[in-house]
Amino acid sequence: MCGVVGIVSKKREAAKDLYCGLYALQHRGKEAAGIATFDGGKYYSRLGIGEIPMVFRNGALEKLPGRIGIAHNRYSTAGVSNLANIQPIRGVWQGNEFYIAHNGNLINTETLRQHCLERGFKFEATSDTGVLVALISLTEAPSFEKALEQVLLRIRGAYALVILYQDKIIAAKDELGIRPLCFGKSENYFVVASETCALYHLGVSLIRELDPGEILIIDESGIKEYFHPPVKKRKFCVFEFVYFLRPDSIIFGRRVKDAQKNMGRCLAKECPASADLAVPIPDSGKYGGYGFIEKSGIKNGEEAILRTHLVSRTFIEPVKELRNRGVELKFVVIEEDVAGKKVVIVDDSIVRGTTQKRLTALFRKAGAKEVHARVFSPPYRYPCYYGIDTYRVKDELIAQRKEGDVEKIRDELNLDSLCYLSLESLLKAIIEVSGEKLTKDDFCACCFSGQYPIPI
Ligand code: SF4
Repeated sequence: MCGVVGIVSKKREAAKDLYCGLYALQHRGKEAAGIATFDGGKYYSRLGIGEIPMVFRNGALEKLPGRIGIAHNRYSTAGVSNLANIQPIRGVWQGNEFYIAHNGNLINTETLRQHCLERGFKFEATSDTGVLVALISLTEAPSFEKALEQVLLRIRGAYALVILYQDKIIAAKDELGIRPLCFGKSENYFVVASETCALYHLGVSLIRELDPGEILIIDESGIKEYFHPPVKKRKFCVFEFVYFLRPDSIIFGRRVKDAQKNMGRCLAKECPASADLAVPIPDSGKYGGYGFIEKSGIKNGEEAILRTHLVSRTFIEPVKELRNRGVELKFVVIEEDVAGKKVVIVDDSIVRGTTQKRLTALFRKAGAKEVHARVFSPPYRYPCYYGIDTYRVKDELIAQRKEGDVEKIRDELNLDSLCYLSLESLLKAIIEVSGEKLTKDDFCACCFSGQYPIPI
């Protein structure tokens, strides 16, 4: 999962605002980051491995002039972690430079890569975005926009793109609208970003989410709908709602936290628990936990756990050893709050089971009499190919290893009881509070159901 931002500023240099936008989207990826700007004559870029303050230290932003630019933070999906895969990635189309930033994952890049190699393209990036750059670079068309259109017709998978080409930014979404991408404006800016939380920090008002298949062109004169097909089909990633989107972000007319809270209420109804204390797991289990507490009437135990924010979100750590150590460092369970009590943990999801197993151990060590878990999404059983790299670790998915058998998962996690929200209730919880008319067909949920909307 990645975060993307594009800014056209009427008055000031864009780099510092791009940095703020990226900072708001840091939860979408911490492995690497980059900014590319254009000052009317020349492009500038800074790319680096690590979190945003690290990448842009030592006055790096001062060396990125220009009132237009794009930015990306990377969570490794396709392609190994090396400098050539850090985005925005540079390309050259008919002698003109461009930069591209991509959130999502393309699934037909192997044949397309071969095609580019046969036409003599020399790859540096090994990622799917590298193939996108190659295809654009090799496409003959009367304009850059036409070249991009032709390429978008050939690629399959999930993409939310921002592209910097001279004095404009082009934003595009795949035809199923799997990943989020919104745009907004203020007196001085036009902004496109993965989530509305980035707009908030820039003081920019949301206009709307891009529709599936839509292409926008943004320049100093404004935002133009270059291609806006009618929405026939949508498959927005339901796991964005469960885990990735920041709770304050607004999507489909409602804050994510409202949907998560409703998931928690549905969970309390579907998976009741007998406990003295309900503990929402910070951060992503927090709002679902509040909903669970509200509906179940179990005492709020949020103070029983402390999360140190100096450790990254464990799920997005790319190296297993670091993930394990991260879990140990991340949480503190307060003994005097849980000793001798029956505790029910409320969390958003169980993917590999690493965090949950450690949490159970921490609660038992702190003296909890019983440890139960309630999860406001179904067992994460099938790997994702559309932007969350679980296909690369599919043997580690606990629900897949246990063939969806909840009792076996409970046993491995050493819990007294375990219950997951059903897929039907998860979708219902989102739809019920949405500000727009949605149906369950508007969502991709294949990591829970195994029904892939784009054949792999
Ligand atoms: S498979 Fe799961 S994580 Fe991937 S896009 Fe679909 S719902 Fe989202």
